Formats: sequence, structure tokens, C-alpha cells
Amino acid sequence: MANDQIGDLKDFTEKIAPKKATPEAPVARIGVQNDLTEHIAPKPKSNQRGYRRPRTTAKKPQTVEAVTHPAVDAVAPAPAAAAKPAAQKPKRQHSAPKKTQPQPNATQAQGAVQQPAKAADTKNKRGKRTATPQKKTPVRIIPLGGLHEIGKNMTVIECGNDMFIVDCGLAFPDEEMLGVDLVIPDFSYVEKNKEKLRGIVLTHGHEDHIGGLPFLLKSVNAPVYSSRLTLGLVEGKLKEHGLLGKVQLNVVQPRDTIKLGCMAVEFIHVNHSIPDALAVAIHTPAGIIVMTGDFKIDSTPIEGDIIDLARFGELGNRGVLALLMDSTNAAKPGMTMSERKVGESFSNLFQRAQDKRIIIASFASNIHRIQQIVDYAVKYKRKVAVSGRSMINVVAKATELGYLKIPEGILVEIEGINRYRPDQLVIITTGSQGEPMSALTRMAMSDHRKVTVNPNDFIIISASPIPGNEKLVNRVINELLKLGAEVIYEKMYEVHVSGHACQEELKMILGLVKPKFFIPAHGEYLHLKKNADLAVAMGVDRKNILITEIGKVIELDGVDMKVIGTVPAGRVMVDGLGVGDVGSIVLRDRKHLAEDGLIIVVTAIDGQTGEIVAGPDVVSRGFVYVREAEDMMAQTRKIAKKAVETCMANNTHEWGNIKNKIKDDVGDYLWQVTKRTPMILPVIQEI
Ligand SMILES: [Zn+2]
Ligand SMILES: [Zn+2]
Repeated sequence: MANDQIGDLKDFTEKIAPKKATPEAPVARIGVQNDLTEHIAPKPKSNQRGYRRPRTTAKKPQTVEAVTHPAVDAVAPAPAAAAKPAAQKPKRQHSAPKKTQPQPNATQAQGAVQQPAKAADTKNKRGKRTATPQKKTPVRIIPLGGLHEIGKNMTVIECGNDMFIVDCGLAFPDEEMLGVDLVIPDFSYVEKNKEKLRGIVLTHGHEDHIGGLPFLLKSVNAPVYSSRLTLGLVEGKLKEHGLLGKVQLNVVQPRDTIKLGCMAVEFIHVNHSIPDALAVAIHTPAGIIVMTGDFKIDSTPIEGDIIDLARFGELGNRGVLALLMDSTNAAKPGMTMSERKVGESFSNLFQRAQDKRIIIASFASNIHRIQQIVDYAVKYKRKVAVSGRSMINVVAKATELGYLKIPEGILVEIEGINRYRPDQLVIITTGSQGEPMSALTRMAMSDHRKVTVNPNDFIIISASPIPGNEKLVNRVINELLKLGAEVIYEKMYEVHVSGHACQEELKMILGLVKPKFFIPAHGEYLHLKKNADLAVAMGVDRKNILITEIGKVIELDGVDMKVIGTVPAGRVMVDGLGVGDVGSIVLRDRKHLAEDGLIIVVTAIDGQTGEIVAGPDVVSRGFVYVREAEDMMAQTRKIAKKAVETCMANNTHEWGNIKNKIKDDVGDYLWQVTKRTPMILPVIQEI
């Protein structure tokens, strides 16, 4: 409803209004966050965590509130009135006439220039308030990753001359991408518009939300805002990339609000499979946009509170323009179980393990899971050793920041595990996805330096395979079983719960937020579609739901939602130190080499006469075992020689042509005798 949104914006105006009309976001560093919070939330009775709306305001009917505050009208001018203040106010030279009301700082605090315009608005529009909703300064949502895929989540939010980014994740390569280490979003749109970039907001510390950040920060710089743990994990990445100290990291608390240009971002506590996860409510001139990020509703979390449902409800009552919601588990009915459920299973399994050594594989970032393992280890008088690089890193970081509480004397070095009896040990390891280089896989392949799996091992895989990883996980389980170990995995026992909301939880958020427009996010098409259906079932108008793609520019003006264009988006592959230098041609070559192997034909030619001086020699790799195919190799040499001689006889001295002739003739022959198409690489040396 228009009035709700008006009331809401007014409110937002008061809260974020700085004392001066500064177009830029206030600057804050770790440790001075409170200053920032106070700065942008001067008015309400706030608690230490940030601002909280006074109850009375939240409960008051929106219409009443709207009428009583003249400032309200300033943010919803009629198109004609809209042009006026823009002309009067040379605040930003290039601002379009439409971009007027993003000056939500126009409150009673300041802004003499704006006052007359505002007063006029108030008068003119008082009678109009119940009329059809007015279009407002549009806000644009541009997803650059995370749609029709799992991974590399990234969304650009843009309004007038300001933009910011929510999340900057990576994806892992699929099996087609040979040799590729990771995949990041295409940043070119952000790079091209970097002077507009006011900040980067991160919802939580999973790789699919922060993994691309160091690559982005190499070409643009902007302050980063997130929770303490998320930034702690980001810090580690920046260090690896030599960026530490060059980027401003700002810690935020749930219910804090930061100002990013003409928009403000409010952080909301959610439950997920990593601590300190946040949703965001973006307050824009066009209305409120809520992005859930990854979330679930855990009423008995291991640490901290249940997701801040109250805040989602408050925003819903004020009127939410659009909701972008996690779709990962949208196809799953019911509720995701509490993380605590896993603890109950652990308790049973620790008893069942009796005098065996326990090895548990889990996601390194699932700190609550690790905490539970530690707690049961303490209870059952076992020591804990940690294996796997990412597990060691996260345990160290989370302990340092106080997210993981390990009693003194419990943690032992993996080098020293032989000093303990099997029933005195729990080993926490990476490799729950069967990743080939991970610690658990190495244990399974008898390739781990410190851990030799034997029938005295009780192994728990505390994760479910991410789609696509099932084969890898099964291979590891098979090998562990062959070594005589007992293996417990998800299908047998409740040793894992998801970090994402199932249908009933998604419906609850839809019911609380009551968005006008809905954009399913975070998932493949089948997940997005299911989430869209849920929204329809919850009363969202189907024509107000958009299943979109990365690179689409979605514009919301408070009245309509439409796709108004596209920007470059896609997958940028990272291989070693190279970013984006592996493209489709390189991949095609790698695939070709992997599938059919390589034949190199080396010939030395006299530069003057064009006669063959040496060779041709034929070298093959990954094609046939040469010793068993000597005849074929000899024949290949003959054909190559003939090809060169034919070229010379025809007066063809262009090397490119000679090479093509060799490729064609040798290729034809090899196809005839083997029905294979190796890559053929002719090399000509001039002597
Ligand atoms: Zn996540
Ligand atoms: Zn995610």
C-alpha cells in the first residue's frame, strides 16, 4: 500500500538522517561501529544493539502517521512537483530530474532549501492520499549470480547515482571445467560503475557469498559491512590475496542500519548453518526491499537467538515493496530441523562408538556443528584433533573470535594422536563432500600422513552431499568400508540438518513480510519455481512474481516491477593466478586433450630450399600406447612427410598452410584406423 510505504519512508528518513546532507555513506571502522549507529539513528530510544523502532510507532496505523508528518510528502511527490526540488538543488550535477526524493535526509533537522518545496507538497497532496499509488524514484535490482545455479551469489542494488552490492560469492567448477579452480561472477558492470559504488554488504561467511570478494576488491574498493564472524573469515581471504589493510571492514550488529548513498541497509538476525548470518532490509525511496539471504528458522539454535521474526513482521506491517528469498529448500515440505537434533544423534552415536576412535567429517564453516562435537567429546572424555586446512583455519578463527568454545586441554595436535587410545579421540575433518584432495578422501585412500583408517574407527559423515557430489561421497564411503571402518552417513541417521528453510518456514516469512513483489533467489530453476508457487499460495499476485536471470536489470518504482535491460553477467573462471583468461576456447582444448589426447608432429625444414632436414618425428601423449602402435606411428610419420613434400611441390611455403595440410592428412589417417580425433599439433622448425 502506498500510504504504508510513505509512512515507512518517513520513518526511515528520521532514522538515517545525518546532521548534514552528506551524499556519501558515513565512514566507520571496526570498533567505531557504535558511533555510526548513533550517527544514523539519533532519534529513537535505542538499545545498545542499534536502533529499534519505538513500539508505539510500529503499532500506530500508518495513515495517521503519514498525515501528521509533513516530511512524508517530500518523499512521494507528484511527478510535476518532483522536478522542482531537483532543479533548485545542484547537489549532484548529473542527477536526472526524476531523482529527487532520495534525499530522505530532508527532515526537520536541516535543509532550508528543501523546506518550501515540501510545504507546497503537503498542501497540494493532502486530498490525494487515497488515490492510486504514485511512482517514485526507481530502484534497480541486478542479480549477477545465484539464480539458476547454486553458488556465486551477488546482487547489485542501484538507485540514482548510488549503488551497493549484496554478497560476492564463488562457485565450484563442474566437471566440464577442466583444471578450473573456481568460478566467480562477471564484475564488469560494477567495475564500469565503480564511482557509484557506496559499499559491499555481506549476509554471511559461506564461500558462495564471500568467496569472490577478494577478486572484486582487486579492481574496485569500497567499504565492506557485515557481522564479526563473516568479516573475520573475509580477513583471512584478504590476507591471502595481499589486500589486508587496503579495505575498510565495518562490523555491524543485527538491527543496525547503515546509510549507503540515498539508500539505507538494515541488518536482521537469521538462523543458518554458520553463525552471525544476516538478512537485509533495504530502505529505498521506492520502498523497502527485503533480502533474506540464506536462512532457516531454528527455534532452538546452538548459540544466539531464533531468527528475528518480529522484525520481519514489523517491516511487513509497514509495507514491503519486494522480497528476495532463499529458494534452496523450496521443494521440501515441512520445517528444517533444529541444529540441536544433530546433537541428539551425536549423543547416541558417541555411546554406540564405545571404544572405537571417532572421525567426523563436516563443513568447516558449520561452527555450531563443531561446537556440538566438541561438547560431546568433553562429555565422553575424548580429546579432539582437527584435520584439513579449511577446518584448521576456521577452528582457529572461530576460537579466536569467541564463536567456538573449546575447554583447555581438549584440543590435541593431529601429529600427537598416537599417544591416545582410540576411545580417547575424536577427529574432526574436512571432506564431507568427498572432495578429491580433502583429508577424509586421503584417509579413505590410505594416503593421509597421520590417520590410518582401520576397523577400530567409527566414522560419521555429518553433511548431505551437495547435488552432483553423490558419486564422490559414495566412493569415499566404499573405500572407508573396505578398510573395515564403521561408517554412518546422513541417509542412515540424522547426522545432518540443512541450513536452509523448507516450505513451512518460507511461508511463514512470506506471511510476515507480505511483499507486494516477490523474486525467488538462491537456487536452480526448479527451486525458484517452487518458491514462486509458495508465494502465490500465500497470496502474492502471480503477475507480481518474477523468476529472473543473472544480468537482468529489474526496476521497481513503487508501482510496477519490470525488467528494463541487461548487463554483462556470467561465469569467470579462475585457474591458479589467472582470472578470466580461461575461456570457452581454452576449455574446449582441455576437453579435447582430456578425451582424445595429443599428437605432436615435429619437422625441421631448410629455410632456403624448403627441403625436410630432419623428421618428421611424431610424439604422442594420452592417445595410444606407442610401443603397441609402432606401425601406426611409422605410418603417421610417412603421411606427415608426404604432406610437407606435397606442399613444397605445389610451391606452398606458408607455414600455416603446411601445418593445416599435416593436421588434415594425419587426422584423416588416424580417424580411419582408430576412430579417434586426437589434437594434432604440427611444429615446423626452420634451419
Ligand atoms: Zn549459506
Ligand atoms: Zn548460499
